Amino acid sequence: VLAAALLLTGAIAAVLVLVLTKDGARHQSRSLAARSGHPRHHRRHHHQHSNNERPSAANPPIPAFARLLRVDRPIYCGGNRGHAIALTFDDGPGPYTHLVLRKLAKYHQHATFFDVGRSMNYFPGYLRPELRLAAIGDHTYSHPPLTALPAAQISYQLRATKRQIEARSGQHVNLFRPPYELYNSTVERIAHRLRMLTILWNVDSQDSLGANYVQIIANVSAGLHAGAIILMHENHGQTIRALTTILPLLKRHHLHSVSIPQLLASDPPSTAQLRRGGLGCGTRKISGRRRGGA
Ligand SMILES: [Zn+2]
Repeated sequence: VLAAALLLTGAIAAVLVLVLTKDGARHQSRSLAARSGHPRHHRRHHHQHSNNERPSAANPPIPAFARLLRVDRPIYCGGNRGHAIALTFDDGPGPYTHLVLRKLAKYHQHATFFDVGRSMNYFPGYLRPELRLAAIGDHTYSHPPLTALPAAQISYQLRATKRQIEARSGQHVNLFRPPYELYNSTVERIAHRLRMLTILWNVDSQDSLGANYVQIIANVSAGLHAGAIILMHENHGQTIRALTTILPLLKRHHLHSVSIPQLLASDPPSTAQLRRGGLGCGTRKISGRRRGGA
């Protein structure tokens, strides 16, 4: 009798858990859909989020967006005019995010963070401070090599992260960077359908390849030309150390770092440039590897 009673209690508990989780999941997906699909509606009904729905200086509209999306090629650099470069930091948020933000703020520079969806669950507090200085891009949910996945999983990796950032920030996410620089036509098609531009780089700090801070500084210095998009990773101590030299160096080169939306708004690459891929960035060498550490 005791065993039967225990079994019955267990069964009831299991059913309860099942019902609750299902309900929770349904509620969550509905509210996420409402937030990303109807920002105005969201604003009216969720006043606690209204403060961070104002577009920040680092996230301006991109007048050339429709053209860039239509050309449908990865972006390696800006138009190489003017005085702007774009520092980009992949693989956060993490324990070093606040150090990057502090250095950017100290030297009045902007940047772009390509965040990993899963990490945002562990470091949820960084999105808001990031948005004050930077734009946020989609770097997938769990940082897998996308080309090894079926289309449905690629779609999930991009969509879940985009929605998560949008739900938490109230801003549209229109930038995507594939982990390890691994993409194919399926990845490109899915990013395109989600109306995200694929952002690569023409200068690799090589921090994810084990470069120390001296080498990182040398790699970045060699690529300090207008329009450069510079690949860095915020989860390397050597990168943080290198920033102390790199940020003041920008001024001496009469350059400043902007976010990717700021770069694409003020100095977008031409269509001809985009069609040439990395070669469209001029004299800069293309990263020597196809399988990098993005
Ligand atoms: Zn990465």
